[in-house]
Amino acid sequence: MALKLYNTLSRKKELFKPIKKTEIGFYTCGPTVYNFAHIGNLRGFLFYDFVKRVLLFNDYKVKHVMNITDVGHLTSDADEGEDKMLKGAKREKKTVWDVAAFYTQAFKDDMVKLNFILPKYFPKATDHIKEQIAFVKVLEKKGFTYTAGGNVYFDASKLNDYGKLARLDLEVEGQARVDKDLNKKNPHDFVLWFTKSKFQDQGMKWESPFGTGYPGWHLECSAMSMKYLGKQFDIHCGGIDHIPVHHTNEIAQSEAAIGKKPWVKYWLHNEFLILGKGEKMAKSGDNFLTLSVLEEKGYSPLDYRYFCLGTHYRKPLMFSFSALDGARTSLKRLYDKVLEIKTGNKVKVNKKYLNRFIKEINDDFNTAQALATMWEVLKDEKLSVGDKYSTLLEFDQVFGLGLKDLKVDKIPKEVVQLAEERLSARLDKDWKKADDLREKIAKFGYVVGDTKDGYELKKE
Ligand code: AMP
Ligand code: ZN
Repeated sequence: MALKLYNTLSRKKELFKPIKKTEIGFYTCGPTVYNFAHIGNLRGFLFYDFVKRVLLFNDYKVKHVMNITDVGHLTSDADEGEDKMLKGAKREKKTVWDVAAFYTQAFKDDMVKLNFILPKYFPKATDHIKEQIAFVKVLEKKGFTYTAGGNVYFDASKLNDYGKLARLDLEVEGQARVDKDLNKKNPHDFVLWFTKSKFQDQGMKWESPFGTGYPGWHLECSAMSMKYLGKQFDIHCGGIDHIPVHHTNEIAQSEAAIGKKPWVKYWLHNEFLILGKGEKMAKSGDNFLTLSVLEEKGYSPLDYRYFCLGTHYRKPLMFSFSALDGARTSLKRLYDKVLEIKTGNKVKVNKKYLNRFIKEINDDFNTAQALATMWEVLKDEKLSVGDKYSTLLEFDQVFGLGLKDLKVDKIPKEVVQLAEERLSARLDKDWKKADDLREKIAKFGYVVGDTKDGYELKKE
């Protein structure tokens, strides 16, 4: 069935036509590893995982590359502000290398907890300095660079379509930019290679033909995506904040280097996770919530996954704990229902619902609508229990909520024993003892309810 996706380049939903029949080239901008990912970052990464799952569901092979930024990213996406990695190192009194290793692992742990299908390649910028230097040399040879104040810059004025992704009005935008870097010839030029570091204690430096220094942030994504996916590839994802600077510059330097257009066929961008009054969650802000914080508060990572599925990726998603509570309750209900219908019988996926589901996910990843369809399957009295179960498992290949691995909870012996004692106490009308026993049962994470035949035990 046709897959349509909203391409930021055209600002339209387009029919997906892969470049090669064999495999889809899929690049997603990864984290800057100077701190834990916050749940806003994770919303974006979850979206990439949904995109990949939808592609796989459509029987495409996917070659997924996600970079790890461990050098060169300043606090502004343009070449201003503090160095993010140095900031992390100062905060923690560690080397930048230690900070990078620690937060890269933390990020991967989050991905596993959130049930991602992990990317095949996780290239680190610092492992690809050679490729980045080679990339600058190509640009230099083609006349797209200049050196000023010791740094090598990309000359944006050399391209006639610079800014096409963001539809920048270069004139107006250029005048509005208060640029602190007086070495730039044009306001949209950007650094490819820093030698004159603004940061005295910059710990990461490499020899290069342009002088000892380190790469500008945008360079890694062009150099590494081409290394693993070839000069042109299918899909590139990122957050909407990347449209005006990071992705604009990635396109400029890549198309300048390969001399072909387009470098990437489809650009997909996710909206932000926001807090009350539209405030966005940022690593530098106080409103920073991580997956571990959610876990400490008793949520499972998959509660957050379910929460993200409920809103289309191109709409801002308002975070609140009460909204997350809603997602947790729904997911628990879903798990209970799935355990009720779980069956060993050989059964079939319902075609009518499957077609509807495919239409929804293939309509620019409408996971919210697809979730509603899943609930309809559960409520449909005409469907056999076995067919419901099979259909849901099929859908879960995209949702990734772990339905296949759900197990009927085996209630511990001690809990059953306490429940039996409580039943006797109730029959003896010893309400105080019955209440005490209820509390003991609760300590094991179970709720005991009274039924006409005795009692029932459920996990809290
Ligand atoms: P960083 O680790 O800072 O390089 O950011 C990683 C990704 O998170 C980028 O693609 C951003 O677009 C994305 N991002 C940052 N803040 C948010 C947010 N509040 N909601 C959704 N995505 C975000
Ligand atoms: Zn990137």
